[in-house]
Amino acid sequence: MKIGFIGLGNMGAPMAVNLAKAGHKVTGFDTAAPEPDGVIAATSAAEAARDADVVIAMLPNGKILRAVADQVIPAMKTGAVFCDCSTVDVDSARAVADAALAAGLGALDAPVSGGIGGAQAGTLTFMVGGRADAFAAVEPLFQVMGQKAVHCGDSGAGQAAKICNNMILGVTMIATCEAFAMADKLGLDRQKMFDVVSTSSGYSWSMNAYCPAPGIGPKSPADNDYKPGFAAELMLKDLNLSQQAAESAGADTPMGALARSLYERFVEREDGLGRDFSAMLPRFVGRNG
Ligand code: NAD
Repeated sequence: MKIGFIGLGNMGAPMAVNLAKAGHKVTGFDTAAPEPDGVIAATSAAEAARDADVVIAMLPNGKILRAVADQVIPAMKTGAVFCDCSTVDVDSARAVADAALAAGLGALDAPVSGGIGGAQAGTLTFMVGGRADAFAAVEPLFQVMGQKAVHCGDSGAGQAAKICNNMILGVTMIATCEAFAMADKLGLDRQKMFDVVSTSSGYSWSMNAYCPAPGIGPKSPADNDYKPGFAAELMLKDLNLSQQAAESAGADTPMGALARSLYERFVEREDGLGRDFSAMLPRFVGRNG
């Protein structure tokens, strides 16, 4: 396939490289990052999109996505698919999809989980919103860039799935960290706490797969001085998006709201910026109660 790829940063560059390695013709554009090996350089987003069967965007936020979509959609050929893999607000995802559909294009919102490691290894999970025919057209590309693609529903459903998942993740990570800090105070050995909780009803991905306590459970960023991994500021971004969506949909999410405010304080007023989101554990310990 001919692919236009807009946004060649930490995630976009390895995704574009994997598509090129699989034999697709990938033309890329980024306002700052250089085109990686195997990706043909375009001088604008519209140029990267012009002949493409599928245009993939991997951009920082909804505002930038809307601006890029305004340039790209008029340049695309009828029947091509605009596939946004960025994590953005549901309203921007739906607005961009509506504009693409009105222009005779297919449109998907397809945010990912799996991080930079997953982008490099081609093991991302895609959560996809949009029509079934557009999903079917792009599915072979999801299989190259990832190992799983779930068609979640109409436009916006992919972003909705992503922020629901990450709201659960933020809340359970905080719960896991505060429980470890409390266990310390109660004189309960961290390894014993892991042995019990990881096989009891308090288990979760945060505890079992990404344990925030160094030296306990499988290897995680806690074992690497809390270098990300999944940076606290990216968790804050996703919690902001989930609260924005909760407000606009009228959903009651008190735990999500509290997780958002704790990560905001951690990133903006404490030492969370640039640290893994599991560094909430030393933060709770450091607060000394
Ligand atoms: P990044 O900042 O490394 O990359 C974004 C790229 O977009 C940059 O290279 C930037 O120059 C480019 N860009 C900005 N404005 C542009 C424009 N108008 N036209 C063309 N290019 C433009 O960010 P990233 O880590 O690659 O993340 C991309 C998206 O993926 C974000 O929405 C993020 O939330 C999401 N995401 C990231 C991770 C992760 O672990 N990094 C995991 C899952 C999802």
